[in-house]
Amino acid sequence: MTDQNRPDSPLGGLKINLGTATETPLGGLSIGTADPAATSPLAGSPVTEATDGAPTETKVLIIGSGPAGLTAAIYAARANLEPVVIAGSAPGGQLMLTSEIENYPGFPEGIEGQDLMNRFREQAERFGTRFFDLDVDRVDLSGRPFHVWAQDTEFAGQSVILATGASALWLNIESEQRLRGRGVSACATCDGFFFRDREIAVVGGGDSAMEEANYLTRFASKVHLLHRREGFRASKIMIDRAYGNPKIEVHTNTEVAEVLGDDKVEGLRLRDARTGEERSIPMEGLFIAIGHRPNTEVFRDWLPTDEKGYLVPHHHTASRIHGVFIAGDVADHRYRQAVTAAGDGARAAIDAERWLEAEGIAEHATQTAW
Ligand code: NAP
Repeated sequence: MTDQNRPDSPLGGLKINLGTATETPLGGLSIGTADPAATSPLAGSPVTEATDGAPTETKVLIIGSGPAGLTAAIYAARANLEPVVIAGSAPGGQLMLTSEIENYPGFPEGIEGQDLMNRFREQAERFGTRFFDLDVDRVDLSGRPFHVWAQDTEFAGQSVILATGASALWLNIESEQRLRGRGVSACATCDGFFFRDREIAVVGGGDSAMEEANYLTRFASKVHLLHRREGFRASKIMIDRAYGNPKIEVHTNTEVAEVLGDDKVEGLRLRDARTGEERSIPMEGLFIAIGHRPNTEVFRDWLPTDEKGYLVPHHHTASRIHGVFIAGDVADHRYRQAVTAAGDGARAAIDAERWLEAEGIAEHATQTAW
């Protein structure tokens, strides 16, 4: 579908109300919402319910249902490990927030993020993965089997793959949330294409904001880079590149007070951070590039994180705890791509399978299954 076909939605008709996204502890399951069924085409897929109060047990328990978690599930299922995925109440991960994906190999025509995640899930189900669309509240990684509690359901896994991803940070102003998917986006590589010849803004002062602003000049007629302070967090080369780009206008000491528009972005009310003075300017899109937050809260008592809260793998995908593996954006703030997360999921499943074998828990090698 072309841009012109979507006059009301520069984000490809994606109209998702994502109420509490940033509050969700499982951002691989990063989509928190008041009504998951309304927002997730994956809702309605079978949810396996525990019936007798006993923990649901498995050899491989996967937490998270983005590309990393679902690829791990496909690999583990094909290795006859009968994995269980705790997928979150709004499954599918960050791709569920995007419109068309044009850089996932194998889809030369592009594919909608939701369609891609549906296919991942169907593939995992085909080989016997069980799904629970629940949010994890608590884990106990003190010993095998590892225990996980999700909305009063207890799970036990001989191994665990943590694939809870990261969530984009938002300004958290009402108008931004209301217009998400209607001109407000947190992903330039996903949505930039839909802003061809439009005047748009990027918020942030780090490398992501510089990178996104530069990237968006491929499409937009003009990009306003809005940063709340005088000084930038971004590296000098990225700042120079932004200032050197004739299509980028940099506004320091500038905050977004409100995104204007009823059904789509039509303007911004900006505030001078020093004087408090406000002005409104017309604008057709707004990209938020103020960082990501890894969804690691429930693991932090058990595993080391870096200064930004990302999990730190110990050896390949293995964590410091034997039997606990890590995959995808939950440990990656460098690449953050669906395809790299999927690759990580495959690596984690292979590592888990070999570990289970070495521990005598899984039958011997199913290497042909890979
Ligand atoms: P970041 O470095 O944490 O920068 C976030 C920026 O957003 C900061 O300038 C911050 O402002 C601003 N911000 C945060 N909350 C805000 C709010 N509520 N309202 C307005 N502005 C807000 O995040 P990042 O840019 O995503 O980078 C994350 C990491 O990835 C960094 O280590 C970065 O170097 C790396 N990265 C590298 C590349 C590259 O090398 N090509 C590209 C992207 C990212 P303040 O400065 O005022 O706090």
